[in-house]
Amino acid sequence: LLKHPFDYIPPDALRIPVATIMTSRGCPAGCTYCCTKLIFTRRMRFRSIKNVVDEIEDAIKNYGFKEIHIMDDCFTVSKKRVFEFRDEIKKRGIETTFLFPNGVRADQVDEDILKVLKDLGLLSLGFGVESGNQRILDNIKKGIKLDRIREAFKLSKKYGFETWGFFMIGLPGENKKTVKDTIDFAKELDPDFAKFLILKPFPGTEVFEQLYQEERIFDFNYDNYGPYTGPVHELPDFTKEEILGLQKKALRRFYLRPSKILKT
Ligand code: SF4
Repeated sequence: LLKHPFDYIPPDALRIPVATIMTSRGCPAGCTYCCTKLIFTRRMRFRSIKNVVDEIEDAIKNYGFKEIHIMDDCFTVSKKRVFEFRDEIKKRGIETTFLFPNGVRADQVDEDILKVLKDLGLLSLGFGVESGNQRILDNIKKGIKLDRIREAFKLSKKYGFETWGFFMIGLPGENKKTVKDTIDFAKELDPDFAKFLILKPFPGTEVFEQLYQEERIFDFNYDNYGPYTGPVHELPDFTKEEILGLQKKALRRFYLRPSKILKT
């Protein structure tokens, strides 16, 4: 039997029950590991702000939801639309907690956007950093510079957000140095929380094609392609066991620092 929807609690929820909503589809970026462009294309389509806020208002007033998780892949792509969203929420006097579980792009964050997100009552902000090595970021077509990521974290902390950094282990072209760069960069950015996820080469993505052609993928059971499952591929420099070991090492190096332990 299915549980009542209110019994499904997202792990990052601050207040329950939580309603999820998508206000747009698509993402203009072309990250080589990402499925978004395969599903929604790189052309953005937006719901009207009125339509989105009507749904949020309905979820809160008529169904008792206390927190709204915006599941867009690129909510902050239009600054003007983020402002309009905030204005409509304020105009209607809607009081709720918002969260962006998918994070936002570091190059779309500036003081104006952060002020609006703060005004909306957002408490935490996550960024897909992926790697601390510029060559790897360029390889995966992330389209972002390390300094821009530094700036996004600095500003987010200035505005008092709890920060999350999402990093990847096992990207094509990785070697000991690039993984060390990623761990060092995570420590330098020092978000409140860091996730080090092992790359999953989803079929249809450029990384899948690359690793498939090189015969690096050994597991085609897609049940094993979850965010927290072990490696399904190997790299010239790393075996499956070594990729797993690097993930553990990254977690140890990030969390088992005196400054981090004292903070928690
Ligand atoms: S920015 Fe995010 S959603 Fe957009 S392509 Fe890259 S990983 Fe996918």
